[in-house]
Amino acid sequence: MYSCYERPTNERPRLGGGCWCSVGLIIAMIACPGSAYGQNRLKVVGTTTMITDLARQIAGDDADVSGIMRPGEDPHIYEVRPRDVQLIAGADLLLANGLHLESTLGHVITNNTEGATVVLLAETPRITPLQSEKLHGAPDPHCWFNVTYFRVFAERTRDALVKIDPNHADGYRQRATSYLAELDELHNWVRQEISRVPREQRVMVTSHDAFQYFGEAYDIDVFAVIGISTEQQPKPRDLTRLASIVRERHVKALFIETSVSQTLNTIVTKIAKTTGAKIGGTLYSDSLGPPDSPAGTYIGMVRENVKTVVRALQ
Ligand SMILES: [Zn+2]
Repeated sequence: MYSCYERPTNERPRLGGGCWCSVGLIIAMIACPGSAYGQNRLKVVGTTTMITDLARQIAGDDADVSGIMRPGEDPHIYEVRPRDVQLIAGADLLLANGLHLESTLGHVITNNTEGATVVLLAETPRITPLQSEKLHGAPDPHCWFNVTYFRVFAERTRDALVKIDPNHADGYRQRATSYLAELDELHNWVRQEISRVPREQRVMVTSHDAFQYFGEAYDIDVFAVIGISTEQQPKPRDLTRLASIVRERHVKALFIETSVSQTLNTIVTKIAKTTGAKIGGTLYSDSLGPPDSPAGTYIGMVRENVKTVVRALQ
């Protein structure tokens, strides 16, 4: 007899403001159907495209990894599909961001993961959530843009895989070690690239407020049309304030995003026109690019964003 997962008491799951308390703090299992202990390989499900990529990097061929969201989809307003319930119900390990990012999936995960391991990767004492100014101090979920925080995601994914599927522990550990080294290299590369932009020119204006962790980690001032969730509506006074910032700080370029509404991106374009700034390019915020594109992995996505930012602000 063994335990598939023991959820630490400081990792109480909470998605979308919902309560998962019925799941209980500790889930002990006698058997893990469909896991690597049986005939089938471990089934891992990731919510966002960043998390699914991470799971694939570490699981390798030792587990089956499926993703819920597709490239370009907005996690804040994700519309749950019928197949998601089946996917989630079949998971041995469910990896989510947490901090209310996957708000629409919260109840589906709560109701369909009994006996599975659920890890909310951003909800750990090792990550200090930023508070949203525009959303009454709600925790900002976009911590993957600090590469050292994504490193924490990677370590927690490795640890969960090793714990649930110890027969493949060596493989999980080896792949994690090499992936963590790639993340360290990426973090240093981002710092180096951003340092090429003079400090006074390091001002990013984007569609929604997804880059505060990026700004904090790499010393850039970040402003956005709306707050941390794309459910919010832009307010006229925020737009006026943003235009003032663009003028006062002599911001060279504003950025639109791939996973937000066209309406929001149009507002950014209008602010650029009225202030004389240009559109510096399109950033990947809450979703990776298509699988075969340069931004089809987390590392590729960060590199593409940084190239776009440096090119536009230099
Ligand atoms: Zn977002």
